[in-house]
Amino acid sequence: MRVALVGHRGKVGRVLGPALEAAGHEVRGIGREDRLDLSGLDAAVNFTRPDAVFTTVRIALEQGVPNVVGTTGLGQEELEFLDGLARERRVPVFVAPNFAVGAILMMRFAREAAAVLPRAEIVELHNEEKRDAPSGTARETARLLGGDPPIHSVRLPGLVAHQEVLFGGDGQLLTIRHDTYSREAFTPGVLLALERLHTLPPGLTTGLETLLS
Ligand code: NAP
Repeated sequence: MRVALVGHRGKVGRVLGPALEAAGHEVRGIGREDRLDLSGLDAAVNFTRPDAVFTTVRIALEQGVPNVVGTTGLGQEELEFLDGLARERRVPVFVAPNFAVGAILMMRFAREAAAVLPRAEIVELHNEEKRDAPSGTARETARLLGGDPPIHSVRLPGLVAHQEVLFGGDGQLLTIRHDTYSREAFTPGVLLALERLHTLPPGLTTGLETLLS
């Protein structure tokens, strides 16, 4: 596919660009200073910043280009707007708070555990440069668990992306933990989303789990 990588110089973009090319995609890198002209492209992959994601995805959809969005921080109203716009243009927009397959399993196992051990708290730990808190993955995990579990956000140098879900019961504690040590962890999920993009209905689809099941 001919793919725009929006945010190609970012920490994820720098890893993803060469990986997309190695998988056979033709990549056009787009940075903050570039005009978002996506003519002739099949898809846009967005790993920018919470304050840029809505506008850059909107502009891509307005040009009729399907989107794979990894950038977190989109609010409910923004997602609804992008869903409507994508339906109108008859293209898919796929948004996933986490493209690491292990993190999807962590959320799946946590939901299973919550059915038996309902008292849960979430600790999400990320690099200090991550702008938004709590993380999209933590918010999605909380939604899956129900009951509004507390979320604790840690921002420190040295971290990449980590999450623990703690389940307390009388005399016992269950911890389900996922660690992302490098940004290569996101590549297979993004490649899968690109591969499946043309099979998705027009409008918004969320979560890597929808492509794995
Ligand atoms: P980063 O290092 O800050 O990189 C963001 C990049 O986006 C920068 O190169 C920035 O350029 C560029 N950018 C900002 N505004 C732009 C615009 N209007 N048009 C084009 N490019 C623009 O961040 P990162 O660590 O790569 O993460 C990117 C996003 O993905 C974050 O929201 C992060 O939370 C999220 N993320 C999601 C997943 C997932 O699995 N879903 C995984 C990792 C990260 P400048 O340097 O010029 O500002």
